[in-house]
Amino acid sequence: MAIQIKTLDQLKLMRKAGLVVGQTLELMCNAVAPGITTNDLNNIAIKNLAANGAKSNFLNYHGFPAVICASVNDAIVHGIPNDLPIKDGDIVSIDFGAIIEGWHGDAALSVIAGTKDPDDQKLLDTCEESMWQGIAAGKVGANLTDISFAIEDYIRSQGKYGILREYGGHGIGTEMHQEPHVLNFGAAGMGPELKPGIALAIEPMITRGSAKTKVLADEWTVVSQDGSRGAHFEHSFALLPDGKPFVLTAIDGGAAKLAKFDLEISDLLQ
Ligand code: MG
Repeated sequence: MAIQIKTLDQLKLMRKAGLVVGQTLELMCNAVAPGITTNDLNNIAIKNLAANGAKSNFLNYHGFPAVICASVNDAIVHGIPNDLPIKDGDIVSIDFGAIIEGWHGDAALSVIAGTKDPDDQKLLDTCEESMWQGIAAGKVGANLTDISFAIEDYIRSQGKYGILREYGGHGIGTEMHQEPHVLNFGAAGMGPELKPGIALAIEPMITRGSAKTKVLADEWTVVSQDGSRGAHFEHSFALLPDGKPFVLTAIDGGAAKLAKFDLEISDLLQ
């Protein structure tokens, strides 16, 4: 399938969905503390979807039973919420999406409950910054894998982290997962040229050990084979008709983070 190019009006709807995603993730992130369960987080998300007239794109996706993915410690992505209390020092990775009027938003973050181990914090900081490096590389006229290269290059500059290879970013629009697949590693300068109207979810997934993963018997939860802890950050961003970026799932549209790359966000969605 070709890459779906969105009109400004369609991107306005994607911004609505993205803002619900960003605000709900912030609510869940602020609620993470020792003792809370991932089902509690899922319930926060269910309530906030309803309050905003949004639908879940995760619930029933290939049979997935919740509106968030919640992955703890050596689980990196696709974890199913449960009633186990989060413990002090746990890494909680939350992935969440929403649909407004048929248009999708998708984002994720990792957060540490309570006491923060410095090496875990660096894992999270590295993963988050690599996502921003990827978004900043996704300029009009660049090639798709310029994003992939920027993500990997930053992660490698920070230490020995495992970069998951089986999972990556994706186009997003009238479906949550569209063409193109966005690798989190590889050489620059390949793949389609990025044009105004494109929307991509950028989502690096890394571990403190090996990149090798396995899927648990629940058929969803992706854990590191060596038991090392993982992190996952994701934002959906678009290139607007004025050629400027806008991070659809960031509450400020990505203004603060992209300013560090001397990038101005579009004012067409503000
Ligand atoms: Mg995604």
